[in-house]
Amino acid sequence: MSTSPPVLAIAIEPGRLAAGLVDQRGSVLVRDRVAMPTRDVWRSLERLVRRVLAATPESVPPFMAVGVSCVGPIDVRSGAVSPPHVASWRQFPLSEHLEALTDRQVILDTAGGAAVEAERWLGEAKTTPSFMSIVIDAVVDSAIVIDGIRLSGAHGNAGSIAHTTVDPDGRECWCGARGCLDPYVGAMALESEMSRPLRRANSSIVDRAGIMLGRAIASTIAMVDVDVVYVAGSVVDGFGDALLDACRREIGQRSRLPNLAGLRILEPVEHLSPLVRAAALAVDGNAANLPVG
Ligand SMILES: [Zn+2]
Repeated sequence: MSTSPPVLAIAIEPGRLAAGLVDQRGSVLVRDRVAMPTRDVWRSLERLVRRVLAATPESVPPFMAVGVSCVGPIDVRSGAVSPPHVASWRQFPLSEHLEALTDRQVILDTAGGAAVEAERWLGEAKTTPSFMSIVIDAVVDSAIVIDGIRLSGAHGNAGSIAHTTVDPDGRECWCGARGCLDPYVGAMALESEMSRPLRRANSSIVDRAGIMLGRAIASTIAMVDVDVVYVAGSVVDGFGDALLDACRREIGQRSRLPNLAGLRILEPVEHLSPLVRAAALAVDGNAANLPVG
């Protein structure tokens, strides 16, 4: 067992809360999870963290920091989160609560931000200086690394593709606008539209999702000039190859710039779990994510 201190990883996922201790090589030493409660979400998370710490063998050194991922929008300056699938958390001061609970530094990021950090820690992006990661679960989340630098932005949501307009006057989005990408590909919106699970979606819904994803990616890559876009998440798993095939066709139609001719849309070969992604935020050497000041 590794003797360097692990990190405490926490993932606020669509249907559940997950917490665990992850070592500096990405191995999960202890893990636990609980279904997303309908109320008192913080109390459940607090109990979960205490359970993980209580279950940690004595041979494991004390954890050094906390990495926590939550779908955006987040506000890294105040450490607040507002995940659309947790109605009671609006500007909820998650970092402050976790700092008080653990007495450690807390590094908060979006699900997309955690995905890009994990890809360049343990995934294929270790040698890719400019790439984007898109995670499509209950909602869409994404982030960008350009020239080896992870863009964070004023509030920590840089690189988010979810509310890119893909269909003017199109479907209503949970954000209040119309025609965003999210209502065409996010599981929360699709399941309420179809009244059935994702795996039973008909091909027109899958095609439409791929086309809208392709439109959003085409607009984004024209601006950010990346080599690779990694696409992962439960919707990608549920819709299968048809989703990314439709997406690639649409990009072929809408992206004709010579510099983007070699763009690759890939599912990451190695499946990095949400806990490992959250751990990537806090492991040694990830100083880029430490808050300023
Ligand atoms: Zn929106």
